[in-house]
Amino acid sequence: MHKFFTFFKKDNEITYPIELENSYKVLKKNIGVGSFAVVKECIDKKTGESYALKILTKKSIKGRENLLDTELGVLKKVDHPNIVKQKDLYESKEGVFIITELASGGELFNQLLLKGSYTERDAANLVKQILEGVAYLHDHEIVHRDLKPENLLFKDKTDNAKLMITDFGLSKIMKDDNDILMTACGTPGYVAPEILLQTGHGKAVDIWSLGVIAYILLCGYTPFWGEDQVTLFENIKAGIYEYEEDYCKRLN
Ligand code: ADP
Ligand code: MG
Repeated sequence: MHKFFTFFKKDNEITYPIELENSYKVLKKNIGVGSFAVVKECIDKKTGESYALKILTKKSIKGRENLLDTELGVLKKVDHPNIVKQKDLYESKEGVFIITELASGGELFNQLLLKGSYTERDAANLVKQILEGVAYLHDHEIVHRDLKPENLLFKDKTDNAKLMITDFGLSKIMKDDNDILMTACGTPGYVAPEILLQTGHGKAVDIWSLGVIAYILLCGYTPFWGEDQVTLFENIKAGIYEYEEDYCKRLN
């Protein structure tokens, strides 16, 4: 009887920098995937504590290197309970590896899918935490520009886990309040009208996104809707949103 062995080179396998492997044991399973990054859990070999490892391959960021520099610069500066903190950073030919505080409670997005919607009390508590993080960012002249439930993570799995803001890939440090950011960016349903109208945008775009998030937490669906992206954008620009007349009655 013949046995055939085939050897495969796993094409999505990445080699970690040796310094990273000396300090951390990286677990195989992905804990998150975003528009650019893959995120895994890793363990600090000295303390046994768990952290998140955000992997950005050079291939995935090709042409967007300036975006990356921004993200790294912003992460290094922030220190607030409602913002994911950076611990270490490694770079190799293949990619950039960012070790951050681990948010093991997962995305607000997934909790929302499980729950359907939140009570006003619970929603208020979450919105307050996001606002505190956003206030800190704005005080440091940082506009997040991509606030959405996928970028809001619970610290742990307990019922009253702290909520933390992550993913500064699209944020930019503003020079001063009068500096208007002109780049169109963000996620369709949460994007502010001034971004779509290209009339410039500053800190207010985060407050708009937060308003959309507050609405979603209470209702379980997005305020702005469209058959396609063009209609969605038209509705956002015109301020046309769905409002459930029964909402107040439902509360009583
Ligand atoms: P991208 O810039 O590609 O959107 P993110 O930073 O948003 O990358 O990370 C992608 C996903 O990985 C997040 O939506 C989240 O589910 C997960 N994730 C990111 N950072 C952490 C963390 N510190 N702890 C736990 N999960 C995380
Ligand atoms: Mg993200």
